[in-house]
Amino acid sequence: MPITLPDLPYDKNDLEPFISARTFEFHHGKHHKAYVDNTNKLIEKTELAGKDLETIIRTAAVDPGKKGLFNNAAQVWNHSFFWQCMKPGGGGKPSGRIAAMIDDDLGGYEKFAADFKNAGATQFGSGWAWLVLQNNTLAVTQTPNAETPLTEGHKPLLVVDVWEHAYYLDYQNRRPDFLQAFLDHLVNWDFVNANLG
Ligand code: MN
Repeated sequence: MPITLPDLPYDKNDLEPFISARTFEFHHGKHHKAYVDNTNKLIEKTELAGKDLETIIRTAAVDPGKKGLFNNAAQVWNHSFFWQCMKPGGGGKPSGRIAAMIDDDLGGYEKFAADFKNAGATQFGSGWAWLVLQNNTLAVTQTPNAETPLTEGHKPLLVVDVWEHAYYLDYQNRRPDFLQAFLDHLVNWDFVNANLG
């Protein structure tokens, strides 16, 4: 079974004005689709054909000869996860278990928001800012390019894409403004709580 491009969990104009339909047309319809197509081409007729995406990522991550496959497969996973991290009318302070954990582990929501925004803003070049579970403790991290906490044994809970293609049509060079909008208006805390398991 090939790796597939998931539908967005909302309509492409549902997150306007914070992320435009035009950004989704490129980001989901072109960039994410290309990662899916490239992954399928690279696993065709290999021992990884038919394997699930996480197996492909973990296998390629430790094989220097499969760097291209790793980059594409990890980007498939990261983007599929990223779309679910947002919803119309999202953002602001969380509720539920994650709220208490942010208070206990990260010094409260305001401190978390500042640290998360800083992680995204200071990721030089392309990459991602994450909220993850490391040994049952929350941590805010950043990864370059296609790198993912999955290969570090950390559990992803929330991510934001800080590649320029994620925000340039709507914010041009103002990456911090995109990160602020993500925090204030887009984060799907129900999804984050569900990821705690
Ligand atoms: Mn992207």
